[in-house]
Amino acid sequence: MLQLCIMKIHNFSAGPCILPDEVLQEAAGAVQNFNGLGLSLIEISHRSKDFVAVMDEARELVKELLQLPERFDVLFLQGGASLGFYTAAMNFLPEDGKAAYIDTGTWSNKAIKEAKHLGDIDVLGSSKDTNYNHIPSFNGIDPSCAFMHYTSNNTIFGTQFKGTPDVQVPLISDMSSDIFSRTFDPNPFHLIYAGAQKNMGPAGTVMYAFDREALGKTGRTIPSYMDLAVHASKDSMFNTPPVFPVYVTMLTLRWMKSMGGVAAMQQRNEAKSKLIYDEIDRNPLFEGHATVDSRSHMNATFRLLDAAHADRFDALWTDAGISGLKGHRSVGGYRASMYNALPLESVQVLVDAMQALEQKS
Ligand SMILES: *Cc1c(COP(=O)(O)O)cnc(C)c1O
Repeated sequence: MLQLCIMKIHNFSAGPCILPDEVLQEAAGAVQNFNGLGLSLIEISHRSKDFVAVMDEARELVKELLQLPERFDVLFLQGGASLGFYTAAMNFLPEDGKAAYIDTGTWSNKAIKEAKHLGDIDVLGSSKDTNYNHIPSFNGIDPSCAFMHYTSNNTIFGTQFKGTPDVQVPLISDMSSDIFSRTFDPNPFHLIYAGAQKNMGPAGTVMYAFDREALGKTGRTIPSYMDLAVHASKDSMFNTPPVFPVYVTMLTLRWMKSMGGVAAMQQRNEAKSKLIYDEIDRNPLFEGHATVDSRSHMNATFRLLDAAHADRFDALWTDAGISGLKGHRSVGGYRASMYNALPLESVQVLVDAMQALEQKS
C-alpha cells in the first residue's frame, strides 16, 4: 500500500502534459505566497510590479532561448493554438491574398479551415491518403503566396518535419508540440505560434513570436484582441493576461535555460526518441505508425501487431507506473509523448515493459 502511494508516475500524456517537478513545486508555493508578498500570484493585480516582471521575463526568455532577431516580438495571449489558426491568417494574409498550407493531419486541417475564411488557400501537399503517416513532399509554391504555413510536429500522428522547409516565401508555423525541443533558424519566419500545454507550461496561454515589420500589410480591419500589433504595443498587457499559465511558463523557460537551453533539450530528446524507436524496430510484437524518415522526436506512435496481446501489455505498463500512453482515437494503438520534461529513465521503463511482454509471449 505504502509503495503504491510513493510509486513514481511516468507521464507520457500528449497534452496537457508533464512539467518539471521543480517548476510544479515553485508554482505551488507561489499560489499561496508569491515573492513573500503574503498574497497569492493569482490574487494580485496583473499591473503590479511583481507580475509585470513575470511577463517581461517570460517574453525575454523566449527571445533568448529561440535566439530571435531584434525585429521579433513575443506575446502570451489566450485562445489556444486553435484561435491562433485564425489569428495567423488575420494578421499575415492580405485581403484577396493567397497562402500555401501543408496538410499533415488534424491540426493543419483546422488551420486550413480557418484561413479559408480569409483568403485563397493552396494546399501544396497532404498525407491524408495514408492516415498522415508521413510528411508529404511538395513543390510548386506560387511566389505570390504571402506565406507558407506548416505544423512542425503532428502531435496526433507522430510525424515531424525534419528541419525548416526551404521555400521562397516567408514561413508561419504552428509549433505547439515541438517548440523549444530543437534548435532552428527563426529568420525565415513571419510567425511562430504555440499553445503552452505541450512543451512549455499549463493550458491557458499561447505564445506568438513574430516579425513586427511584417505586420500591418493585410489591408483589413482586425478586431483589437486578434491584432498582434495592438498586443505588442501594450507589452502583452492589452487586457488581463492568463497570469498563472504565464507564470508557470516562465518557470519552465527558466528551467530550460538552467538545463543548457534548447540545444541541450534537443540532445535529451534525441536520446529518448532513439531509445523508443530502436525498441519499436527491434521488438517483433510492435510496429510504428509513422514512416521512419518522418518520425517525431516528441510523439512516438506505435501499435501491437497482434491485438490479442493488448490486455497483457496494458497491465504491464500500468503496473510500471506509466500514464497517458493510449493512442489518439484516429490512430489507435499507443502514443508515447516525450516532451522536454520527461526524463530518459521514463522511456527506459516503457522499453522494459515492451521487452517484458516479448519475454512472456
Ligand atoms: C494541441 C495542439 C493544438 C491545439 O491547441 P489548443 O491550445 O487546444 O487550441 C494545435 N496544434 C497542435 C500542433 C497541437 O498539438
